[in-house]
Amino acid sequence: MSIDAININRLSDGVFVDVNEAFLKFVGFEREEVIGRTSRELDFWVDPEVRQQMVETLRQDSACSDLKARFRRKNGEIVWGQASESIIQIDGVPCILSVTRDISAAKASDERLARAAEALRVSEARYRNVFQTSLDSISLSRFSDGRFTDVNQAFLDLMGFEYGQIVGPTSEELGLWADAGTREGLADMLRRDSSFRDVTIRLRKKNGEVFWALLSASLIELDGVSHMLCVMRDVSAAKAAEEQIRDLAFYDPLTHLPNRRLLLERLRQSLAVSARTSRKRALLFVDLDNFKTLNDTLGHQTGDLMLLEVAQRLDTCVREADTVARLGGDEFVVMLEDLSDVAEDAAAQAEVIGEKILASLELPFWLAGRECLNSCSIGVTVFGNNRESTDDVLQQADIAMYQAKAAGRNTMRFFAPALQAAVNARAALEEDIRQAIKGDEFILYYQPQMDSLGLIGAEALIRWNHPRRGLLAPGEFIPLAEETGLILPLGDWVLETACARIAAWEERPETAHISLAVNISARQFRDPGFVDKVLATLERSGANPHNVKLELTESMLVENIEDVIVKMSELKSHGLGFSLDDFGTGYSSLSYLKLLPLDQLKIDSSFVRDILSDVGSRAIAQSVISLGRALGLSVIAECVEIEEQRVLLSRLGCTAFQGYLFSRPLPLEEFERLWLRPAAQPIPVSQ
Ligand code: C2E
Ligand code: MG
Ligand code: MG
Repeated sequence: MSIDAININRLSDGVFVDVNEAFLKFVGFEREEVIGRTSRELDFWVDPEVRQQMVETLRQDSACSDLKARFRRKNGEIVWGQASESIIQIDGVPCILSVTRDISAAKASDERLARAAEALRVSEARYRNVFQTSLDSISLSRFSDGRFTDVNQAFLDLMGFEYGQIVGPTSEELGLWADAGTREGLADMLRRDSSFRDVTIRLRKKNGEVFWALLSASLIELDGVSHMLCVMRDVSAAKAAEEQIRDLAFYDPLTHLPNRRLLLERLRQSLAVSARTSRKRALLFVDLDNFKTLNDTLGHQTGDLMLLEVAQRLDTCVREADTVARLGGDEFVVMLEDLSDVAEDAAAQAEVIGEKILASLELPFWLAGRECLNSCSIGVTVFGNNRESTDDVLQQADIAMYQAKAAGRNTMRFFAPALQAAVNARAALEEDIRQAIKGDEFILYYQPQMDSLGLIGAEALIRWNHPRRGLLAPGEFIPLAEETGLILPLGDWVLETACARIAAWEERPETAHISLAVNISARQFRDPGFVDKVLATLERSGANPHNVKLELTESMLVENIEDVIVKMSELKSHGLGFSLDDFGTGYSSLSYLKLLPLDQLKIDSSFVRDILSDVGSRAIAQSVISLGRALGLSVIAECVEIEEQRVLLSRLGCTAFQGYLFSRPLPLEEFERLWLRPAAQPIPVSQ
């Protein structure tokens, strides 16, 4: 059965004579509604003139095929039909046999296609527009060979090509890639992920200029061919800024050598690598011997020239893979990579380089038209046993460098474990002091101070009751405490204990007059909180400030004398006294001694010791006593051991004494028992 709609209508008036089911379905009418009616009555043709034409054609040719026309269905819906007509005779009446196929669906899809084509045209235009006006450079190239198929104006402007020059050849032929392998690398990424974003690469312009570009690309199909669509931007300026920042952060501005930060980074990397290989490395600490003098005498500019020259010479002494860094000042570090597996051999290799450096820096320098001589001291450590930290390695080289300095300069020393042992012992002592402060292992001893009538006071002298090493004198721990800053908590403890002692003595009439001298180290005195701390401690203890005497040493008066005067005056105004310890050994000049609110000068033990045998010592003691008298200060002699010393000092005018002649420093109970009884008398202690 045909699915085409068939109808027969009279040629003369279009009255339907017969129709098939498909036709009824096509038009939506019932058979009775159709038969005997004309197409006009049914309003069948949407464009009646088309039927008119069709009839004309039929009259001439008696057939007409593939006529596309629009028909109106009963419900008003418009459908497309493709009709083929021919004339037949029915009962002698000419009729039209019309076979119509419903082509609405095909027609609709044609229309959609047309609309889509139009949209595509518009969107292509739009994209073309975006492509052309984009400020980013856009290029389209065949993925297989990198041949450009299209690029935009921004691309041409940036790269310096004409359109005609760029479309056709491959990117390789154009020489666009500044670094070999770039294209392959990018192609790999595209093959893997079919796109990438923000990759920084170097490209070359037509004029040869190389620049940094930020590239994003994706793989697209065009006419069945894989293309690389690339969007890129010139980021040279940003890259330059980034490099400058990097430069500032990691390189020494004067010599352009790696700075401390970069050295530490490389050292860290080197230590990480040494965990995987057995190759040894070496670190050489190079310190110039006479740089400071040169800098001071010839000026900074000449000093800078010397550092530049040193940097260059060091660079020529090492291999490509090694690092020469400047830590600052005249300190350089050379890190040697990839030495022998055997520590001894590695040391020998490092020694060769060290000798080379020594020889190289010994050669005269020509700086600003004059010849200058210098030399250096080198500390070497071989590392790579994969247990060291960066700090260990640097510290070892540093220790060895100081050994080289101590050995007379212009020489090289290797770090030896024995040195490390000394360093470790110091570290252990430091930790011990910390613990001892917490554990109350320190005690104060008291040494009497006398005048001709008897006891006038005492000096508090610290002792450390060490759990393993027994009683330690201050010489064994005070210097380290000063270096490490531990003197601050230690000094606090001394002050606290001394003030508490004075307050306790003030309770009893027979001891109320005793003053206590407390030694203050330079580091303590320089601490900005020193004055407040002393006043607060006094306040807490309730001790009378007039009974506290602070012993300062001459050496601490050398720098920042204004600050010293301010602090002393402030404390003095609260009633505290000051004694200048070890007097005569420093650089005190009369001019500023006058400015200090002092109460007492303490003649240094060295002059007292030699006063009987050495005229010089006697003369100095005499001068100190005269100076004290001139300035209105009392003078005390320390370390008086024998009666003859006391007699001579008395004769020279000294009125106060301290020393083994009277008593050694004593623990509290003994001091109180021997010296603070109501009727205490001087008891000379024999040696
Ligand atoms: P200094 O203040 O000059 O103390 C005098 C040193 O001479 C003391 O040594 C004392 O024991 C010793 N001495 C006293 N009479 C004689 C004598 O007749 N003959 C000899 N040969 N020596 C005598 P010490 O106690 O070992 O103290 C040494 C130094 O340690 C002190 O020198 C002082 O500078 C420092 N020191 C002591 N205690 C403290 C303290 O609490 N704090 C601070 N910062 N330093 C302290
Ligand atoms: Mg003292
Ligand atoms: Mg002294």
